[in-house]
Amino acid sequence: MLGLGLGILCVGAVLYERDAGAAVWAVLLANGLLWPHLAFLLVRHSAEPTKAEYRNLTFDAAMGGFWIAAMHFNALPSVLLAVMLTMDKVIIGGWRFGLRTFSALLLTCIAAGAAWGFAFEPQTSYPVVLACLPFLVIYPMAIGFATHSISRKVQLQRDLLDKMARFDGATGLMNRQQWLYAASTELRRFQRSGRPAVLILIDIDNFKQINDRHGHTVGDQVVEEFARLMKACLRDADTGGRYGGDEFGIVMPDTHWEEAMVAAERLRRQVAAYVFTRDGLRCTISIGVCEIDADKAEVGDWVEAADRALYRAKANGRDCIAVM
Ligand code: GH3
Ligand code: MG
Repeated sequence: MLGLGLGILCVGAVLYERDAGAAVWAVLLANGLLWPHLAFLLVRHSAEPTKAEYRNLTFDAAMGGFWIAAMHFNALPSVLLAVMLTMDKVIIGGWRFGLRTFSALLLTCIAAGAAWGFAFEPQTSYPVVLACLPFLVIYPMAIGFATHSISRKVQLQRDLLDKMARFDGATGLMNRQQWLYAASTELRRFQRSGRPAVLILIDIDNFKQINDRHGHTVGDQVVEEFARLMKACLRDADTGGRYGGDEFGIVMPDTHWEEAMVAAERLRRQVAAYVFTRDGLRCTISIGVCEIDADKAEVGDWVEAADRALYRAKANGRDCIAVM
């Protein structure tokens, strides 16, 4: 709408100088002022809006060729129309679409030019230069702003997708894959430098019962609250993650199992003392702790050992910690 609305100023200035007939003026006004709205409605009501929009844009370019011939190739407005009508198509559909629409422009230009005997009056008067200025200034600026805002939106969406791929939506903790990646980074560091590290697996006790007795919404709330308690217990260097369901993990760099036990015990007590819902729901956790050693070649070995410790904690009656 903006492009065509400004474009008819350039064409109109030339038509005015050439004393064009009423019919040409009518076509110009229809093309510049009515057609953009009609094109918008056509796209709105089309079953294939993208295709319809591409068709409309091709028609725009073709009409551009018509007006260049109608202006008898008046240099400035003709070049301006050809360039703007191709530039916006390239932005929208790439070079191939740009070439296709430019071909449409050329074809109608040749056809209309032939009909008028290729009248050629390229001189541009000063009033026509002035009439071209709004199109020359405003349209590229508007395209620039629009392109910038689209690229910002794409960037934000990419950031969001990236976050969704790495973090658990409910707890904000790393998801399983990302957390395992953090654990494997720590494992490699141990293999390179021999620096200690501990992996902790935590599972909420009898969580199925909580779901069954209080409903899944309360279950979800317990998971979220627990994640909050766990995050508050982490040091900056620790990496917490949601391993899956009601199971969580922590990687503690530069830590021996004895120190990890202290942190794990603190978390266990905090959870046991915590009131999760208004009607007094409490729950407990079992914890498996495993310090890295040379036997663990892959992160899977390390997780498996911590999982065995966790299994032992469950077997020992839950609400306790076991070390592997
Ligand atoms: P255990 O003490 O042996 O761990 O018993 P448990 O009942 O906690 O058993 P388990 O850990 O195997 O079961 C976890 C259940 O938690 C299974 C699943 O239906 C439920 N669950 C997993 N993720 C969620 C969640 O995000 N929200 C809710 N409400 N339930 C979940
Ligand atoms: Mg459980």
